[in-house]
Amino acid sequence: MADVVVLGAGLGGTIMAYELLPQLRPEDRLTVIGQGPRYHFVPSNPWVAIGWRDRTDIEVDLEDVMRRKDIRYLKQGARRVHPRENRIELEDGSSVQYDYLVIGTGPDLAFDEVPGLGPDGHTQSICHVDHAVKAKDAFDRFVQSPGPIVVGAVQGASCFGPAYEFAFILDTELRKRRIRDRVPMTYVTAEPYIGHLGLDGVGDTKGLLESEMRERHIKWITSARVKAVEPGKMTVEEVGDDGKVRNTRELPFAYSMMLPAFRGVPAVRGIEGLTNPRGFVLIDNKQRNPAFPNVFGIGVCVAIPPVGPTAVPTGVPKTGFMIESMVTATAHNIGALLRGKPAVSEPTWNAMCLADFGDNGVAFVAQPQIPPRNVNWSSKGHWVHYAKIAFEKYFLRKIRRGESEPFYERFVLNRINLRKTKETV
Ligand SMILES: Cc1cc2nc3c(=O)[nH]c(=O)nc-3n(C[C@H](O)[C@H](O)[C@H](O)COP(=O)(O)OP(=O)(O)OC[C@H]3O[C@@H](n4cnc5c(N)ncnc54)[C@H](O)[C@@H]3O)c2cc1C
Repeated sequence: MADVVVLGAGLGGTIMAYELLPQLRPEDRLTVIGQGPRYHFVPSNPWVAIGWRDRTDIEVDLEDVMRRKDIRYLKQGARRVHPRENRIELEDGSSVQYDYLVIGTGPDLAFDEVPGLGPDGHTQSICHVDHAVKAKDAFDRFVQSPGPIVVGAVQGASCFGPAYEFAFILDTELRKRRIRDRVPMTYVTAEPYIGHLGLDGVGDTKGLLESEMRERHIKWITSARVKAVEPGKMTVEEVGDDGKVRNTRELPFAYSMMLPAFRGVPAVRGIEGLTNPRGFVLIDNKQRNPAFPNVFGIGVCVAIPPVGPTAVPTGVPKTGFMIESMVTATAHNIGALLRGKPAVSEPTWNAMCLADFGDNGVAFVAQPQIPPRNVNWSSKGHWVHYAKIAFEKYFLRKIRRGESEPFYERFVLNRINLRKTKETV
């Protein structure tokens, strides 16, 4: 019998558990360790932050689903992973042993790296549903007394798509309320150009997103380093290609949402061999940790080097479909190892993303996500907004039912030649 443990019950960890189930032998046991009883669908947080969704619309009671699927669910959270002892210490002082561990702990949000940043400082966040609820309260106050808005992503950030989404969604909502004319908007980003996305662009995201910014009258500052945030004021340095500060600007704001840099969560940070200096889980091309081969990493918590140097540091986003490809490869590999076979399944890291702008949006396909690519496509249209709503409903239904990839999804993905693994075991 083997004990297989998934640490983290977010987007990656939850579907990891569902995909592992059919890979286990009858005698094996599957445990998921989460933080609290509920799952929330992170990509819908921007909608929560302006009241297009309630938090209850995007949450799922995991205890109930896991019970139905016969998966042991521990909601107390992990304090520390001890990979040399194959043990996880939980927040309540108890421990869980494992034969195989999959780490899917997502990001720790490094607000503390910029003075005044984040929901405990002077900017809002959409990274967690708790933050999105708080951002909604701030937005309600803002519309009573509108003023300038600053939205973006700070130095070291890797997740830029939601920053664009939020800027455009805010614009849509303000136009609906007929107060957009009272709101100067600025997009501030570490990216070297609009549409870079931490990926050196996908298709013509540069042209598409720049044009969208112009159409919506949103000004932008690229290669930006946020020095500090004070109540109603953000100090931003514009950095040249030589790394020198070209200009320092003080941006007044009445409302601001800035995505922070990510790092690994405290439970895994600073473990020699397991994580890099920033706390991201080191993995090989099978999602497996080289120092502790019974440990795998999936999702935002894994270490991926930047696509290339930028004047202000940027990271590579780990997007939903890319994470699903990590999950499928990991499930196949653990299934093989349990049967004494080698782990040979490699994820494609293909990306297919829908970025909603409130009334239209941009879709892109990057195969693989990291350039150079075999497929490099992006397109804009109203259909993207509706496709994103449909995807939200579909994904949440899968989480509630305990399903990962129904046969019809596999069929469609095969038809459009969007594969999750390079080699299927
Ligand atoms: C606002 C936002 C919008 C996004 N929108 C999209 C999108 O539209 N499309 C797309 O492709 N990608 C999107 N992404 C990127 C990515 O798909 C999501 O970030 C996704 O949620 C990442 O999945 P994950 O499992 O790696 O991390 P998460 O979903 O964040 O899950 C990590 C889980 O680990 C848990 N955890 C952490 N520490 C511990 C511990 N010590 N013990 C137990 N549990 C722990 C956390 O509570 C959390 O539940 C978005 C990201 C953000 C931030």
